[in-house]
Amino acid sequence: MTAVLDLAGLDALIGELRFTGHVVVGPVLRDGAITLAEVESVADLPAGWGVETAPGHYRVRRRGDEAVFGHSAGPLSWKNFLHPPRRALVASAEGEFRSIAEPRPRYAFLGVRPCDLAAIGKLCQVLGDRAPFVVAAECTEPGGVCFCASMGCGPAAGPGYDIALVERVDEEGHRFVADAGSAQGLFLLDWLSARPATPAEAAAARSEVADAAGRMGRAMPEVDLRDLLAANRESPHWQDVAERCLTCGNCTMVCPTCFCVTVEDVTSLAGGEAERRERWASCFEVDFSHLHGGAVRTSPAARYRQWLTHKLGTWHDQFGTSGCVGCGRCVAWCPAGIDVTAEAAALARGAP
Ligand code: SF4
Ligand code: SF4
Repeated sequence: MTAVLDLAGLDALIGELRFTGHVVVGPVLRDGAITLAEVESVADLPAGWGVETAPGHYRVRRRGDEAVFGHSAGPLSWKNFLHPPRRALVASAEGEFRSIAEPRPRYAFLGVRPCDLAAIGKLCQVLGDRAPFVVAAECTEPGGVCFCASMGCGPAAGPGYDIALVERVDEEGHRFVADAGSAQGLFLLDWLSARPATPAEAAAARSEVADAAGRMGRAMPEVDLRDLLAANRESPHWQDVAERCLTCGNCTMVCPTCFCVTVEDVTSLAGGEAERRERWASCFEVDFSHLHGGAVRTSPAARYRQWLTHKLGTWHDQFGTSGCVGCGRCVAWCPAGIDVTAEAAALARGAP
C-alpha cells in the first residue's frame, strides 16, 4: 500500500517510535552542517535547509521551500551510531577484569538516503549486526558529489527499509508519499491512519525519484571496477594521486562503510587500573600496516592505492559487493578535493 503522510503524520511517527522505546536519530542543522543526532519531533529537522557540495566543498544553503529531507549526505553517517568512533571494551582494577562495553540503544534511523541505506546493509553484513528500524527518504535532489546511481545504490531505496518516504512540497502542500518495506512499517502506517495515495500521487513520486538518476553530480566509469583495480596495481597514476593526497584519512572517517578499528590499552599512572578501548583506524595511517619490524605501506601512493583498491575492488572478494555506495562524502570532505570517480576514470583511460 502506498500512503500519504503530512507533517503532523511524520511527527506522530517519530512520537510512536520514541514511545515504543526507540532512540530516533535524524538530520539536524548543527555547526554549519546537516548532521545526525537524536530528534524528538519534526521541529528538530532541518526544514528549509539544503546543501551545496563539490570536491573539497560543503556549505548549507537556504532552500526556497520548507523541505525537511532536502539535502544530500552530510559529514556524519549512520556508521557513527552502528559502529561508534570510540568504544570502551574492558576494564581491569587490581587484576580483576570486567566488561564495560555498553549495549547499543534501540535506534530508529529517520531520513536515510538510499545510498546510506545500502551502506547500512554493507556495514551490518561486515559487523554481523542487525539493521535498526529505518525510515528512508528517497532521493529527488542529488547533490554535486553524488554518484549512487552509477553504483546501483540509488536514487530509489533498495531493500532494508521499514518505511520509505518521498517528500513532496508544492502547491498541494507538504507531504510524504510512503511505502512500507516490512510488517512493522506496514503496521505503523496503518496505525497512523495514513490516507492511501491516489495512483497519480504514487506515480508522480516514483517518476520524480527516477528522474533524479539523471541529475547526479558525477558517475563512476562504466567498467568492471574490480578488474580495473586488479589490473592497475603498478599504475604510475598512484604517484600522481600521492602528490595531491595529504594522507589525512578524512575520506575513511566520513565513508559510511569503512569499518577498520584499532585497540588501545590505557593504564592509570599507578598501574593498578587499565582500560581497553576500540577506536576507528584508517588505512592512511602509517601504523595501520605495521607488521613485525615496521609498516609495509610507507608511501602515500601505497596507502591511497590500498584505500581505493579495497573500496572498489577487493571488497568484492571479501563480501561479494562493492564497498562504495556513491554517497560522495569522501569527495566533499577531502581537503585536497580528490574525487574517487575522477581517479577511477583516470585509471580506466590509462592516465599516468
Ligand atoms: S584522499 Fe583526500 S581525504 Fe583521503 S587521505 Fe588523501 S587528502 Fe585526505
Ligand atoms: S568511497 Fe566515498 S563515495 Fe564511496 S561510500 Fe565511501 S565515502 Fe561514499
